[in-house]
Amino acid sequence: MSVRLTRTPLFRILPLALVAAGLTPPVALVAQTTPRLPERAVRRDIPLTNTIRRAYAAGTRDSTGRPGRNYWQIRTDYTINARLDATTSRLTGRETVVLHNNSPDSLGQIQLRLDPNIFLGNTPQAATWVPSEVTDGMVITRMTINGQTVNLAGPPPAGGDGARAAQAAAAAQNAQVPNQPTILGLRTTTARVNLPTKIAPRSTTTLEIEWNHKIPGGPGVGHRMTQRWADTLYQPTQWYPRVAVYDDLRGWDNELYLGPSEFYNNFGRFDVRLDVPAGWIVSGTGVLQNPEEVLTPNARERIAGVLASDNITTIVGPEEIGPGQATQRGKPIAGSEGDRLVWHFVADTVNDFAWATAKKFLWQMTRATIPAKGPIPITMVYLPDRARFYDTAGQVARHALEFYSKQWFPYQFPQLTLQDGPSAGMEYPMVINSNKGAADHETGHQWWPMVVSNNETWYGWMDEGFNQYMNILSDADAAGQTPSFDGLGQSYGRTSGNEAEPPMMWIANYDGPQFYGFTTYSKTPLMLSMLGGIVGDSAVQRAHREWANAWMFKHPSPWDYMFFMSNALKRDLGWFWYYWLFTTESVDGSIQRSVSTSAGRTTVTVRQDGQMPSPVVLEVKFKPGRQAIRPMRNAVMKDSLTAVVTYPVDVWFTGSKTFDAVLDFGPRAIERIRLDPNCRFPDRDARDNVWPRAATPTAEPAGQGRRQAACT
Ligand SMILES: [Zn+2]
Repeated sequence: MSVRLTRTPLFRILPLALVAAGLTPPVALVAQTTPRLPERAVRRDIPLTNTIRRAYAAGTRDSTGRPGRNYWQIRTDYTINARLDATTSRLTGRETVVLHNNSPDSLGQIQLRLDPNIFLGNTPQAATWVPSEVTDGMVITRMTINGQTVNLAGPPPAGGDGARAAQAAAAAQNAQVPNQPTILGLRTTTARVNLPTKIAPRSTTTLEIEWNHKIPGGPGVGHRMTQRWADTLYQPTQWYPRVAVYDDLRGWDNELYLGPSEFYNNFGRFDVRLDVPAGWIVSGTGVLQNPEEVLTPNARERIAGVLASDNITTIVGPEEIGPGQATQRGKPIAGSEGDRLVWHFVADTVNDFAWATAKKFLWQMTRATIPAKGPIPITMVYLPDRARFYDTAGQVARHALEFYSKQWFPYQFPQLTLQDGPSAGMEYPMVINSNKGAADHETGHQWWPMVVSNNETWYGWMDEGFNQYMNILSDADAAGQTPSFDGLGQSYGRTSGNEAEPPMMWIANYDGPQFYGFTTYSKTPLMLSMLGGIVGDSAVQRAHREWANAWMFKHPSPWDYMFFMSNALKRDLGWFWYYWLFTTESVDGSIQRSVSTSAGRTTVTVRQDGQMPSPVVLEVKFKPGRQAIRPMRNAVMKDSLTAVVTYPVDVWFTGSKTFDAVLDFGPRAIERIRLDPNCRFPDRDARDNVWPRAATPTAEPAGQGRRQAACT
């Protein structure tokens, strides 16, 4: 007998048994058979997935939202030597990666990221973007792990089909030895090395990789799809084989690079030598180690004065071209054509390395003054005929560095470089591939993901969205204005309900081209606008600052953010995070038409038709008069004729979709009532937020500009 069979009859039989016993069944008992559901069941907890449950069980994270007592992350230190052959646009490299396995796990595999394979043309892509040029992708010619050669032909074949047979032949050619590491996925953007001997916890492993690839040029359409202009300017990004992140949430990060979603990288030290034709200027992540070898005495002398003022200093001018003018003369290097120079950069504790080089870069510098740190250099390298895109770029970058340093924490790196080229609007540690257009935004990325290093592939909103929010602050500051988030939260109501919109907690790699931008970039400022409407914008920013400081040079998850913010704001915000991050619901508030007044009390019926609840905020405008306006405990006077009354979100937790707000201001007549006067709560149509309906301009049938106008 099953539980199911015993339960159902019990409900049915019990009243009958009572009747048989001569008793009338109590009403409540009958009602139990047809339970009434609440109009709206408000969910108030933050959903957990197995990923975060695992971290909580291991103590690597906890519900404080801070790194847990057992938090760990792996570290990867790179030494890279790369040579650019400008006649073939080919980059050839040799790298050593020291993998510090700080995890408690024994690792039987190493996951690699081979992003240049997106240019193979036959790898999966998530957008309609066009790679500029189909190349032969990342070609790995040799790999060793702790000195043991990796079999690049793949694992020993198990099947008998043609592909397997070919693989078998290749494996035989590769002279496979027993218990040799093997690699899978060499022709995808993420490859896996299977290890015969596991990597022990808290040990280091050394990978040596020799590789080469063609830097893609041509007329690509879309982000990061072109990395050079002809054979005179190169902007290598995602350009070297990387060891993927292994973390406490998902183990190895084996997500494919599909185009739109960005990256998730380990922190570590980069020691990089870049061998380019003499006369070509190189910029990049880190600090140049050998200026005497590559820069002219003139350039070095000009650089020496850069930190003394906010002036823009030209280091290499448009007339200074070629070896002996733009750079030192250079010398022949074995395996390279013509005279060469090797530029040596070192960066401590960064999560990536990017660079650029061009035959005729115009090089300018200025400075930013970082609180508690002092002046640091800002470098700009661009083509002389594109100077108009850089005329204010130095000033914009300086403002961003100084403003965000005050807003979150001081800029963590020793320099910032703006690089010209086709792959514009992209960020790397200490490097932004940007002119003045996106200089503020891309500089903002130096806070996230370059220091607060979220998994952008899954949760791009934690860097792009936060960045969009803070760009509003920076823009207002630069213009000497007060930033306003009014209207933003409400505007989401016009998007909510679109079945193509993925929730923000969905993996952004699969958001789809229609909504990737909205979910990753645009929605977060709307969410934080609503949060500011509840706790105040300055409280949001204070809590966000504390969160950022807690996760510097670490990998926070969205749960860490949600719990940290709730704790820092001392509010039970589970419902807020649930609806914004796990659903695409809205509030859809309105004031019902009948507003009644009796004995100095006015009853306003507020309705919420959406699934997302919000506090009830009513702006009450009084008519001029002699009767005193009686104070209400939950009201503040904005001016002598305007009160703002607030009821907490809790009024909805009983499950009703309507709430009667009783305004107890005494006999003074009320002229107008507005729901959500700062337009912070998602609402499809704000015209029904006013009483009386016809008394305000927002009552007119109007486009969205008009509907928002009341808040801006
Ligand atoms: Zn961005």
